[in-house]
Amino acid sequence: MTAQPVRTRFAPSPTGALHPGNVRTALFNALLARRAGGVFVLRIEDTDATRIEDTEAARGGEDAEAGIEEDLRWLGLEWQEGPGTGGAFGPYRQSERGAHYREQYRRLEEAGRAYPCFCTPQELERARAAQRQAGRAPRYPGTCAALTPREVRERLENGQRPALRFRVPEDGVVAFDDLVRGAQRFAAGEIGDFVIRRADGTPAFFFCNAVDDALMEITHVLRGEDHLSNTPRQILILEALGLTAPRYGHLPLLVDAQGRPLSKRRGAPGVGGLRAAGYLPVAVVNHLARLGHAYKDDALLDLDVLARGFDPARIGRAPARFEEAQLRRRQKEALARLPADALWDWMRRAQVGAALEERVPASRTLAFAEAVRNNIELPADALHWAQRLFADPAPPAVAEARAAICAAGESFFRAALEVSDTSAAAEFATFREALGRACGARGRALLLPLRAALTGETHGPELARIWELIGVDGVRRRLAAALALCTS
Ligand code: GLU
Repeated sequence: MTAQPVRTRFAPSPTGALHPGNVRTALFNALLARRAGGVFVLRIEDTDATRIEDTEAARGGEDAEAGIEEDLRWLGLEWQEGPGTGGAFGPYRQSERGAHYREQYRRLEEAGRAYPCFCTPQELERARAAQRQAGRAPRYPGTCAALTPREVRERLENGQRPALRFRVPEDGVVAFDDLVRGAQRFAAGEIGDFVIRRADGTPAFFFCNAVDDALMEITHVLRGEDHLSNTPRQILILEALGLTAPRYGHLPLLVDAQGRPLSKRRGAPGVGGLRAAGYLPVAVVNHLARLGHAYKDDALLDLDVLARGFDPARIGRAPARFEEAQLRRRQKEALARLPADALWDWMRRAQVGAALEERVPASRTLAFAEAVRNNIELPADALHWAQRLFADPAPPAVAEARAAICAAGESFFRAALEVSDTSAAAEFATFREALGRACGARGRALLLPLRAALTGETHGPELARIWELIGVDGVRRRLAAALALCTS
């Protein structure tokens, strides 16, 4: 027997921009499919029409689905089947799949596995309150479970609109082997009959979600652990329909650096925000790939290598921390790998790109990119250095730099200016040597005041590169300004 091809999916509801939690879900499913040479499906879960319209209105009519697709493409998570791509199991938008759901509702009703329920929200609430008071967990009391066809007809003729409720077996156990959490068991009797189509005709999310997974022959579903309690209900629905359920794996929660659930309100960045700030997709993907999943290799890896090392058995159960500091570390690794031309290109395409191009002389762009490579994380940091190195007059030195300049004193800068007027100034190495001989200073005592004078800071890019970028005239102007600072 040949193994069934692996098919995974990402099934976002287009209610807003992607955040780190759902992008990690997309990534894990994409990696699982890629590792097996399988298919990664994108399905848009847009049955909740009012909520989606509200979000689009709130975003100024911007299409949330388009935003999601753009974010996924940016991260390199292309889907092999989905909206725009097509495939044998479409359509891939739930709003276009009404006929499939109607068919499955019909089958459940015919088999007696679903029944119309006329209970009003008030009646249901009263029943729940009574159960809670009696110390029992609230579940549907079965009021409409045994209505006769005539009773149903009468109510329909009265104009009452029923929900459709799934009939849960009285006893037995729903058991499944979660890819992450291992063996799970839920007593069917504790679930209670549940609504699969609301009285207004809209389908319940978990119904369409389960039916589509089965009809699209999805084999593995990795998703947030907030969906764990849906799973037994989904398995019951698919069993009743004689459809095959995927294998489910529930991912640990994502929390922020303080251990609180990630939330947009508390400033968790969206994917669009990370892209706009200038994060590189490979950095984002590498940080996300480690959130809850352990890799043997801590290096920056491309998607193929991440896929090869991906294994649901390596997903932990403890909440995983999304920390911007870690993301920045990955960003530095990603920048270290870029050739100078790509590095400059990355800066100049960012929001600050125009300002950078204005500051950095066209003949120095690659040398500049190379010089600042290890001192930046985002394009905004590059602009900072462009201003430090090319603005004339230079921005005022920071307090530590002023202190270093004053500590070196007048004689140091007089000597430096003198040497800068000789042939030794052609290169930083010869200048440094000649200045050392002239003023007797070495090491840090020599380099720190020089750095402070040339950049206005006490840390930064290599001095030899700065020397090249600023040029002897620029160097002399800055040494003169430092001298003026100590003599003022
Ligand atoms: N549309 C659901 C969500 O965005 C999908 C859940 C699932 O992956 O099964 O949460």
